[in-house]
Amino acid sequence: MRLLLVEDDLELANGLVHTLAQSNYAADAVHTGRDAVAACATMPYQLVILDLGLPDEDGIETLRRLRQQGLTAPVLILTARDDLKDRILGLDAGGDDYLSKPFAFGELEARIRALLRRGSSLGGVRCFGGIEFDSTTRAVMINGGEITLTARELAVLEILMLRPGRVVSKQQLVESLYTWESEANPSAIEVFVSRLRRKLDDAGAGVGIRVLRGLGYRLELAPHAAE
Ligand code: CA
Repeated sequence: MRLLLVEDDLELANGLVHTLAQSNYAADAVHTGRDAVAACATMPYQLVILDLGLPDEDGIETLRRLRQQGLTAPVLILTARDDLKDRILGLDAGGDDYLSKPFAFGELEARIRALLRRGSSLGGVRCFGGIEFDSTTRAVMINGGEITLTARELAVLEILMLRPGRVVSKQQLVESLYTWESEANPSAIEVFVSRLRRKLDDAGAGVGIRVLRGLGYRLELAPHAAE
């Protein structure tokens, strides 16, 4: 799950990126409206958290430009302004929800969950073979029993479950697992995939992860898809 955080207060931005990572959200931080527009043009973010008080332009203007550019992901507006007029402006410009500073991280996280649930095809429970993946609670059930996955294994499974039967490139996995700040390690992906595959096998998921050399990975309905 990859998010974009647009916040010019560096201390707050870094703190949020770190805390979001602990909740398994990979967040990129940018500090200006211009950089937010550029980032959304190159990366398909699932959610944008947007501060309104930005150094180069009003966040409302940034939001308008993001929507004009075709951004469909939900946008959560953050602001120190607790003014009814601003809330209305923000929602009219294409914001989906509003949070006034200061806020508790728990509340931010609850709103992110609600927006993702409401927002898109990413919400809800996805099933494939014996796997049930709840993208809101991030719980994984195999044949009705919950299994424990690490954050990385969960992220790999999440991407594969979005496109069962279709090829997911290693680059797509790298992009959803790593932010700009964290060091991307493409060869580690192989390790996460092979551990995930073993856990799925052990739990009798009836689903295999096929490795297509040079192409990527594919989730398949086969008990022994592993090479
Ligand atoms: Ca600000």
